[in-house]
Amino acid sequence: MKDRTYELDRAHVFHSWSAQASLTPMVVERAEGSYLWDNDGTKLLDFSSQLVFTNIGHQHPRVVKAIQDQAATLCTIAPQHANAARSEAAHLIAELAPGDLDRVFFTNGGADAVEHAVRMARLHTGRRKVLSRYRSYHGGTQTAINLTGDPRRWPNDVGADGVVHFFGPFLYRSEFHATTEAEECERALAHLEHTIQLEGPDTIAAIILETIPGTAGIMPPPPGYLEGVRALCDRYGIVWIADEVMAGFGRTGTWFALDLYDAVPDLITFAKGVTSGYVPMGGVIISPRIAATFDDRPYPGGLTYSGHPLAAAAAVATIETMKDEKMVEHAAMLGEEVFGPELRAMAERHACVGEVRGVGAFWALDLVADAATKEPLAPYGGSSPAMNEVIAACKKGGMLPFANFNRIHVVPALNITVDEAREGLAALDAALTVGDAHVHSVGDA
Ligand code: PMP
Repeated sequence: MKDRTYELDRAHVFHSWSAQASLTPMVVERAEGSYLWDNDGTKLLDFSSQLVFTNIGHQHPRVVKAIQDQAATLCTIAPQHANAARSEAAHLIAELAPGDLDRVFFTNGGADAVEHAVRMARLHTGRRKVLSRYRSYHGGTQTAINLTGDPRRWPNDVGADGVVHFFGPFLYRSEFHATTEAEECERALAHLEHTIQLEGPDTIAAIILETIPGTAGIMPPPPGYLEGVRALCDRYGIVWIADEVMAGFGRTGTWFALDLYDAVPDLITFAKGVTSGYVPMGGVIISPRIAATFDDRPYPGGLTYSGHPLAAAAAVATIETMKDEKMVEHAAMLGEEVFGPELRAMAERHACVGEVRGVGAFWALDLVADAATKEPLAPYGGSSPAMNEVIAACKKGGMLPFANFNRIHVVPALNITVDEAREGLAALDAALTVGDAHVHSVGDA
């Protein structure tokens, strides 16, 4: 409905990642749990967690109350002072972090966490270059967008200051002509090592990797890959930055996606799920080795709102609520018993589903126009009428999907009930039938 909110939005709000003239944003009136309502009263099941951040669902009363209580006590204080909410948040995050990582630098979101992780790695090593994979997203600020390995970088790239891209493992669309996970892993690691050698190991400060790439397609790395990255970083004195902005805080059915693997990075970036997005917050979890670089030498960087009390209170309440309500375990169960089996069964039924990938509450359907050639249902970096029809059919079925290029992502709140999950899957199933109509057989294009 084109009410006052809509009209003022169209007159004055400049939106992210969008051609402004053609926008028709949905006006959201309210949200609760796994549902939201627009200003026509239409109810939608949120299978997107917005931009994959409402990990505890919408308006969880315990977190809302914690933010209200914090606001009544101390809304804000400058970052040079200690405050209870920030100390507790850092403590909880350090406790959850893998390995010996135990210091937290707070930022306002994911991109600035990436900026600071890169800065720490550069100052620690005295080197400049950072390696990142194609098919990745690291944020919208300048260094983070240069590191990003997907088409969102193209119009923003101003010469990729000190950034070198390499191919990560992705068996379904293998760059290495591999046919098994083991082959993909071995060849991807050999390619990474060649890249390091040809770039000059002494020039490389860091390798940044989303533990499981998110918006680029939810591609869990094959067993052994991250362990191999750790070994390469150790061999060449390179800092490993694990970007857990999307995959962290329960999304994968573990606290960090890293917990699924046997390798510990030097720095972890996080955001989104840490507060479920109720108040913006991100940060870098730092190993003692990197932190020690700044024991006697000042760290040259900071943010006015680093460790903001409202965000920190939201983080503490979010983490405690996730623990008390066993949301991470629930997400793991959903992945194993509901999403995994049901999405794979859908792939069998629907010609437009090329591959299903994921874990926990973190799944992607790679949609194709042709199963044999794997031609994507929308071009890399773009949209297509076929994908738009699938997305529209999801919404018509009462489900809000997360879609990117040729993919539909199933990324609901971690505490979605099994019945709600099945309701969303039924809407998806019907929408995929719309996609099937666009599949052509080989030679028929
Ligand atoms: N890294 C990853 C893996 C992300 O998914 C995102 C956001 N989608 C970012 C970084 C950037 O986070 P933000 O938008 O909070 O700056």
